[in-house]
Amino acid sequence: MAVQGKPKFAFFKGQIVPFEQATVSVMTHAFNYGTGVFGGMRGYWNADEAQLFLFRPFEHFERFNHSAGLIRIKTGFSPEELTHILIDLLRTEGFRENCYIRPLAYKSTEMIGVRLHDVEDEMTMFALPFGSYIDNEEGAHVCFSAWRRVEDNAIPARGKITGAYANSALIKSDAILAGYDEALVLNEDGHVGESSAANIFMVRRGVVITPPTHANVLEGIVRRSIIEIARDDLGLEVVEREIDRSEVYLADELFLCGTGIQVAAVTKVEHRPIGTGMMGSITRQIRDRFFDVVKGRVAKYRHWLTPVYADQAAPAR
Ligand code: PMP
Repeated sequence: MAVQGKPKFAFFKGQIVPFEQATVSVMTHAFNYGTGVFGGMRGYWNADEAQLFLFRPFEHFERFNHSAGLIRIKTGFSPEELTHILIDLLRTEGFRENCYIRPLAYKSTEMIGVRLHDVEDEMTMFALPFGSYIDNEEGAHVCFSAWRRVEDNAIPARGKITGAYANSALIKSDAILAGYDEALVLNEDGHVGESSAANIFMVRRGVVITPPTHANVLEGIVRRSIIEIARDDLGLEVVEREIDRSEVYLADELFLCGTGIQVAAVTKVEHRPIGTGMMGSITRQIRDRFFDVVKGRVAKYRHWLTPVYADQAAPAR
């Protein structure tokens, strides 16, 4: 993910402030105990329309509020209110480029003591310019992680809980430092879950298959969008079911999807090429359609996009 530069502003303690003022104490509860939740969303710049499109902000903020609820955090705002805050923030930044948005809610009291009750909450949001997608026809080379995905009965994986991302960081770094691009992670029951920060799809005999949301995976917004695009738009059969490790080796195609990675083919798992060893035709179809959708080029899916500069023009360069 090509992040370029730093935010100039942040939404912090109820208002938009210069980014340098958005700081917290080292005694902050969430900093000590991982008691925060976050989101990750994209804005796509459409140069033809001079418009910045937010991809499914309502769904992102709804999940953000649900994640918060799991650990007794109240963000204090509805998804609609959070979308308005975000639009204000992006207009203040004046972005005319792709960007990445990070809402974060956290237990903010400066105190020692592990618990969720009787601790205050805060909410912040910032956004930064994000590089465009680098096309990689060769696809990613992944391994199976020796780590297991956090279980619903340990830390719910369907919530984006900051502390749980120590699990993702272990999965990711051990893969990268062993020479892979990413890792697939299994659940405690041995089925395929997801990667460190993306959902997984497999194609076998023309059927598009992804693990169900009760398989300790994040309820990904891109995952949900791809199921809809593949099924309703491309007319493909999509099945949500558990995936065995050995099925991955036998898959015709494999791809990862999520806000950060978008849609990326996986063409090799350890020493085993997947399918032809190149990006498959169904992955390419889904990826191309996804990029058309997020850029606002597909009328049918325009309702997934919220324009930032709807009633005012984008700032001039
Ligand atoms: N799984 C994990 C663990 C993630 O962190 C992410 C990124 N948010 C995803 C899947 C993909 O979710 P989304 O499509 O909502 O970005």
